[in-house]
Amino acid sequence: MPLYEYICADCGHEFEKRMRFDQAGERPPCPRCAGKDTRKKLSLFSSAGNASGGAVSTGSCGSGSGGFT
Ligand SMILES: [Zn+2]
Repeated sequence: MPLYEYICADCGHEFEKRMRFDQAGERPPCPRCAGKDTRKKLSLFSSAGNASGGAVSTGSCGSGSGGFT
């Protein structure tokens, strides 16, 4: 669930709330003054998707030289 930041327009209280995606358009009431004039701030994106897949290819092809005698 993404974590959204809200700020209350009445008392200026900032709070965070986890909302589901289908609830993202709703505005939760302020936990301090119970005002409904809350605005969503920029959402916090936790960028934890750095999958470093490194295919290390140590190709040491030792070709033996065959000599005809
Ligand atoms: Zn408030």
